[in-house]
Amino acid sequence: MAYLSDPKETIAVLQRYRFNFQKKFGQNFLIDGHVLSKIVDAAGVTKEDVVLEIGPGIGTMTQVLCESAKEVVAVEIDRNLIPILTEDTCREYDNLTVINEDVLKLDIAEVARKHGGKPLKVVANLPYYITTPIIMGILEKHAPVAGITVMVQKEVAERMQAGPGSKDYGALSLAVQYYADAYIAAFVPPNCFMPRPNVGSAVIRLTIRETPAVSVKDEKMLFSVIRAAFAQRRKTLVNGLGNSDEVPCSKEEAAAILASMGLPETVRGETLSLAQFAQIADALVK
Ligand code: SAM
Repeated sequence: MAYLSDPKETIAVLQRYRFNFQKKFGQNFLIDGHVLSKIVDAAGVTKEDVVLEIGPGIGTMTQVLCESAKEVVAVEIDRNLIPILTEDTCREYDNLTVINEDVLKLDIAEVARKHGGKPLKVVANLPYYITTPIIMGILEKHAPVAGITVMVQKEVAERMQAGPGSKDYGALSLAVQYYADAYIAAFVPPNCFMPRPNVGSAVIRLTIRETPAVSVKDEKMLFSVIRAAFAQRRKTLVNGLGNSDEVPCSKEEAAAILASMGLPETVRGETLSLAQFAQIADALVK
């Protein structure tokens, strides 16, 4: 069988099917075998695992996943890619299920139930236009997923992994780190894809925590506080909280909470840890 990590094979498949790339679906196919191995290694895929691949494209990573995992469920929105996967590039794999659907509408719990009930490992070279909704959707719904190892835009990976005080630290860092432990496994240049994207990429692994990183009285309040803190990044936290419609407190109350935590009135959200945001949120729950 021909492996698609060889760019000549990718070109041959694209020509065989007269495939036209659809920009609106974020189609940048991988053409580098080393990068493929890096993603699959970072995901720690074994013959015990059921993998959910988001956006298999022509099946470049699907081939490697089918050879490493017990089962692979691949969900692809572009119906023009389905015959390429099922009749051609991945036809030999009897452990592959291809679903033609928008991943944002997929019931991941149902997929896990149908395929043995164990938490899934999500592995993907994601379509960049919906990276955040895909990842936050999985995390917020507490979908049965053990880990998420994905290629994303470099800047997004850096934001997910950033800690307090860094320029990349923000609401996305806190939301991701509340649910998961994040680490960047590799940086990947544009020439590893066809067509080349205009941005750099990175492989990030999110290992889902059994319980969130901090415990709070009200999760919704925590995320309201975080959003308010970063909505106007250059403002002080007292102003951010006091001006927010989502957070039930005046500037004076916000200042009093910060004072009780030993923080100055001039402090900005970007220097606070997740534990400190949790403390503020708990103070606001009556
Ligand atoms: N995995 C392939 C590879 O690495 O060569 C393709 C990756 S490409 C960056 C993203 C893939 O996601 C494309 O095949 C695209 O059609 C698919 N896609 C885009 N939006 C999607 C969605 N909402 N649901 C499922 N698949 C989607």
